[in-house]
Amino acid sequence: MMENNIRVLGLLGEHIENSLSPFIHQSFINYYQINYVYLPFQITQFELEEVIKSFKESKMRGFNVTNPFKEKVIKFLDDVDRSAADIGAINTVVQKDGKLYGYNTDWSGFQRPLQDGLSFNFVDKRVIVLGAGGAARAIIYALINGGCSEISVFNRNYKNALAIKNSFQKKSPGCQIEVFSSFKKELEKKINCSDLLVNTTPLGSWYYPDSVPFPESVNLPSSLIVYDLIYYPDKTLFLKRAEKNGNRFLNGKAMLVYQAAKSFFLWTGIEPEQGLIDEILNKI
Ligand code: NAP
Repeated sequence: MMENNIRVLGLLGEHIENSLSPFIHQSFINYYQINYVYLPFQITQFELEEVIKSFKESKMRGFNVTNPFKEKVIKFLDDVDRSAADIGAINTVVQKDGKLYGYNTDWSGFQRPLQDGLSFNFVDKRVIVLGAGGAARAIIYALINGGCSEISVFNRNYKNALAIKNSFQKKSPGCQIEVFSSFKKELEKKINCSDLLVNTTPLGSWYYPDSVPFPESVNLPSSLIVYDLIYYPDKTLFLKRAEKNGNRFLNGKAMLVYQAAKSFFLWTGIEPEQGLIDEILNKI
């Protein structure tokens, strides 16, 4: 029996017309037949404060936050979960007793497909991360949290990579974080002793379909796991190269659904079951 009062969930972002989150969350809602609705709220940065205020007044149950608000939203929240504070970005807000609480579910969403799908154990692994934006911060948190021993961050803008090292290195003495801006020479050195390579740049996405984040001229050892956070297209040029080369690889689809499942749990207390997650993954 459904309750009378519908509870509202949503997605807050600037360019979310093609987001898959409404489809994923509505699928969870429909499957569990709960009286919720998940709506997209496409806003500009100038509307952020006002919209959050109205979410609070309307007693909205919670919402996801995506680019470019993952960091900017923090100052409007009443409290932030430890992992989200360490990452410095949130993607999920829960409203409880008139207070807004921020969480980050991207990092665990990133871990699950590696652990469950590829039986990857993070302990003592060496990882290359391409990019140093918001997603990279969540991934680096996940890698450190899992027990990796070395992370090499390569980014176009050295300053942004250094900022990541400065936020994480002191708190993580067991993991050595190195940062680079010049790609080829250093990549050639690192690639042969790395276990996993993660692309967190948008190079290869629908917006940059002909670009690759990794130089064609650098050899890709076939033992390396290649993980591209991009989910549209399904296979970027870089993943196609990895596939041809015999590497095990992942795109960002499963991460997207797992982070959504965690957000859904935070709002509703329901943990979406694996069968449903697999069904959604087949549809998107
Ligand atoms: P972001 O904060 O804007 O960071 C983007 C990063 O990519 C920065 O390090 C930036 O370098 C680099 N970059 C951007 N354009 C570049 C270019 N033309 N050439 C070289 N480097 C470039 O974005 P984000 O939130 O981290 O997201 C990054 C990607 O991850 C997006 O494709 C997003 O869709 C994907 N993502 C997927 C999931 C998932 O669930 N699968 C979750 C989150 C994000 P600079 O520092 O030099 O500017």
